[in-house]
Order: sequence, then structure tokens, then C-alpha cells
Amino acid sequence: MATTLISHPPTTETDTRTRLPGLSRAQISEHLKSIGIEDKKLKMRTSQIFQWIYNFGVTDWDQMTNIAKPLREKMATHFSLARPEIVERQVSVDGTRKYLTRMAPGIEVESVFIPDVSKTGALCVSSQVGCTLTCKFCHTGTQKLVRNLTAQEIVLQVMMARDDLGEWPTTTDNRKLTNIVFMGMGEPLYNTDNVAEAIGTISDDTGMAIGRRRVTVSTSGVVPEIEPLGERTNAMLAISLHAANDELREKIMPINRKYPLKDLMEACRNYPGLSNARRITFEYVMLKGINDSPKHARELINLLRGIPAKVNLIPFNPWPESPYECSDWETIERFGEIVNRAGYAAPIRTPRGRDILAACGQLKSESEKMRASERRKLEKQAEVNSD
Ligand code: SAH
Ligand code: SF4
Repeated sequence: MATTLISHPPTTETDTRTRLPGLSRAQISEHLKSIGIEDKKLKMRTSQIFQWIYNFGVTDWDQMTNIAKPLREKMATHFSLARPEIVERQVSVDGTRKYLTRMAPGIEVESVFIPDVSKTGALCVSSQVGCTLTCKFCHTGTQKLVRNLTAQEIVLQVMMARDDLGEWPTTTDNRKLTNIVFMGMGEPLYNTDNVAEAIGTISDDTGMAIGRRRVTVSTSGVVPEIEPLGERTNAMLAISLHAANDELREKIMPINRKYPLKDLMEACRNYPGLSNARRITFEYVMLKGINDSPKHARELINLLRGIPAKVNLIPFNPWPESPYECSDWETIERFGEIVNRAGYAAPIRTPRGRDILAACGQLKSESEKMRASERRKLEKQAEVNSD
């Protein structure tokens, strides 16, 4: 029998069953077919199992009460519902939660849950282990790329956060995890296929049902992938801009040499679905004495002209031996006011989870191995900064 079955790695070194959680509907269907589920029942069975996995979050085959026991037993011999191992879970004083998950041997992935005052909460997910780009201000950029994450590994980050937050079934009211941001480790648009597939699974109405408008993909500016991302996912777009002239942007973000601002802004203007209701977020990290003067703010306004945009000002988060300092608070506020007066919302992103190195740009799986003295130094600094 011809089959298109994609092989998936075993659940763990000792459990050779295929793990289903994290897989797409099409992949689950193919796996069910491979164990002999007849064609005429395949669609119905796939829907049932998809719903148990993604709406109810079950981890035990016996919880699938609308499936007869013999079939449940058969499925249990081939497939696992287990989650990967959480290596470390940290909770910040501000409620931010950081997870370090071992997806496979040597593949350790960080995800951060950031609760918001407005009853929403975002999970910041990683798309790669490490990053090939070397933005000067980013900790992840100092970690060499290990590999792209699979779509399954991206979806599992969301499922595991929901496990931890007690958010199954999906229909529960007052959900805490309402949004997904691809702002963890790695460059999502160097892994567009897996990111797009993961967004398909995460947003499926019969499963976790996190709407596509609640999913934001952040890119450092991989120009040729921007339009395809919009076409394939309908996700919201965020651009890590950080400088509004090529000379400076090249210095702090080497990708600007390949895709200069003119091309980047052109891609933004062409982003599918762009409108005042669906603005692009431009992220701008505030680096003391580097990109934070009123002149820089005016440059930014000129660059954004005509694009439905909002600006997110991110206070720079330090990491061991980072080459920059964060701008003073008054400087950030003055910058924000200038941008604001030009008609763009420009909120200052409150640093979250600094005490557990979970804030933007601090993620790096090796941070777990950081020397205790370095960690203490940073934690002290974080306390001072949050006073
Ligand atoms: N690679 C993608 C996704 C990562 S998003 C991208 O670059 O867009 C992480 C966000 O945090 C990016 O906007 C990044 O520029 C920003 N960032 C990186 N290092 C930072 C730091 N030390 N302090 C504050 N923000 C940082
Ligand atoms: Fe990679 Fe984004 Fe960090 Fe740049 S800012 S090094 S693209 S993760």
C-alpha cells in the first residue's frame, strides 16, 4: 500500500512509539491509516483524536471515551500522548514563567509565558535552537544554530504551557494563554514551513483555537519570506527594526547588509491583509547612546510614513558581557513621545521576567549553565532596574 507517512522520531530513547501531540491533522490521519484504520472511518477517527489531543489535552488513551477499548489499546501500542521532559521551570516574581524543555537529545528549547494585566497572556515560543544571525544586542545570537525546530516541537511548547497553566479543555472560560508570539529563540522566517504548519495546528477551531490574529511572528527582516508568511498563515507581523538608517542597522543587525531597509519596508507595505486594524509592530530596542536620540526618533517616523504601524519600545535587557546598556528612562520616554506625536502608538514594553533571564533577547539554553556569580550579578542588576 502506498503511503505518504512521514517518519517521526521515537517519543524517547526507551519509548519507540510515535508521539502524536504536536502533529498536524494530516499527519495524525496518515499515522492512523498506517495502523489499518479503514478509509471510510479515517476522517471521523482523525477528528475525534485531534479533538481529544488539542481540545481536551488528554495524555492517556483511556480518556478517549468515545473510542472503543480495543482500538484505544491498539493505538496505545503504536502511539504515545506523552509530553517531552521539562528540564527546568522557573517562575518570576512578576508571574512570568520560563520553561526549558528537552525536545530530543541535545535539543533544549525555551518558552516564556507572560501574563498581562488585561486578562490576556502571551506565550513566547522558539522556532530554532540558537540562531544563524548575530544581532549584536541579542543573547540568542551568541549561540550557534543547532537546528530548526519541527512543527511538532513548536506546537508542543504551546501544549506544555497549557498543561502547566491547567488550561484544558480549550472551552474553559477565562483562559490565561490567549496569544502566541514567535519571539523566542531563533529566526522564524528561516524556518517558515514549520512555523506555518504549527500555526495551522495551533489555530484549528476544534483544537486549541488560538485565532490567527492572536499569533504574531517576529522577524529580523528576512525579506523574501515576509509575503509568503502572510499568505500562508494570516498571522500578525512584527519587525525587529531597532535602527531606521542602513548604516546603523548594519552595525547592529548584520542581516541588513543582505536585506536593506528599502527592501524591508517594501515587503512590509505588501504584507497581505495590512490595514489600520491589522498593523505591523515595529520593535525598537533602546540602546544607550546608540539609537535613542530625538534625531533617531524622527528618522523612524520618516521611515514608517504611510505604513499602518505601531512601535514597541523595548528597554534593552542585559546579559553576561553584553556590549550595550539600556537607555535612561527619560530618554526612552522622550523618544516615545516624539513617535507618539507623529500618530503612532509607541508603548514602552515593561521588561518581564528579568530576574529569571526570560526577557526579550536573554534566551539562550546555555543560560542555564551560567556561572552562579554571573547570574547573581545580573539578578542584582535586575532588582535595581525594576525598582
Ligand atoms: N529572530 C526574531 C525573533 C526573536 S524576537 C527577531 O529577531 O525578530 C526577540 C525580540 O527581542 C526581537 O525584537 C529582538 O530584536 C529583541 N531583542 C533581542 N535581544 C534583546 C535584548 N537584549 N534586549 C531587548 N530586546 C532584545
Ligand atoms: Fe536571531 Fe532575532 Fe536574536 Fe537577531 S534578534 S540574533 S535574528 S533571535
